[in-house]
Amino acid sequence: MMGPSHALSGAAVWLAGSWALDQFADYHQTPLALAVGTAVCAGGALFPDLDLSGKVTRNQGGATVARTFGVFSLFIAEVMEKISLGVYYATKLSRDPRRNNGHRTLTHTLPFTGLVGWGTTALCAHYGKWAVVSILFFMIGLALRGLFDEWAERAGWVIVTLASAAAAWFTFANLPGDRGYPLIGLAVGVGCFVHILGDMITRAGVPILWPIPIKRRMWLMVGLPNGIALRTGSKAEVIVLRAALTALAALAAVGLVAPSVLHRFNIEV
Ligand SMILES: [Zn+2]
Repeated sequence: MMGPSHALSGAAVWLAGSWALDQFADYHQTPLALAVGTAVCAGGALFPDLDLSGKVTRNQGGATVARTFGVFSLFIAEVMEKISLGVYYATKLSRDPRRNNGHRTLTHTLPFTGLVGWGTTALCAHYGKWAVVSILFFMIGLALRGLFDEWAERAGWVIVTLASAAAAWFTFANLPGDRGYPLIGLAVGVGCFVHILGDMITRAGVPILWPIPIKRRMWLMVGLPNGIALRTGSKAEVIVLRAALTALAALAAVGLVAPSVLHRFNIEV
């Protein structure tokens, strides 16, 4: 799947989940909390592809998401790709093939998803608002890059960086500061998980079972069979899937916001 589909799936899942909690568990969120969670989940849904590096020294290549903050994120991607490849070789079994690139390995596993969600929560709990503002800055940048890819392409990474810094600062100024922020860690974790699911419906698949060894393979790639797998960049992805995700996100957003708007005008439903 391409970046924008991943980001959109993160946003749609977060909004739909929030709507379900609102309806069935009586769990309500402020509009700001909703916006923050949606942006962070959209960003989290791009995070695993930060393992697709390019050439930092020549400022070339890399996944779109790796270019969010220019060479800075390209460098992070380089580090993540090398660490992933290291973990691949450290845990590979005899029937796992040789690789020269770490893409779609460590960052596309369930333990990584759990670690990122837990790590985010721990950072927020420990360092409070400063951790929150840094994580928001990073995740909102990824979300902008994914959700508004054409704009981000035209605007360039400096504008994207400034826009995410402004959004993070606005949130920082308006977020209550006297409590933990478990939703941020959850949003990042859910985003990573949705990314893995998105890659699973493509042919290449993901090592979803890692670290469970199966038939002398630790890194078995699990994906849909050729006939029904989603082809990256195909009409099914760019038109059908994105339209469905947009509709889901829009419906959930309307369902969440409409009651309070109606209430303000004294209309009961
Ligand atoms: Zn991926």
